[in-house]
Amino acid sequence: MKLKDIAPCNCAKWGSMHRFGSRDDYYSFVAKIKVLTSTGVMVKVQPPKGENPDCEYYFCNKCRRVWRIAEPDPPFRGYYQQVNVS
Ligand SMILES: [Zn+2]
Repeated sequence: MKLKDIAPCNCAKWGSMHRFGSRDDYYSFVAKIKVLTSTGVMVKVQPPKGENPDCEYYFCNKCRRVWRIAEPDPPFRGYYQQVNVS
């Protein structure tokens, strides 16, 4: 296995976030995701079966993980989490 195969890609390096500090934090995070989607590393996908349709879902072409982002709606702080897709 080559080093680049085991190195965490950006999507995983960020790790799960259980809340955003502020709405600005959320927007700057979404901007980072958009950079990856513009380069084709991540693609926006439809909500997997059984998942919350109000979240946004992104598939990472590098590590093949699916992530979901929930927009903050105070007092709810949103999140960024890996989705386990069977
Ligand atoms: Zn990834």
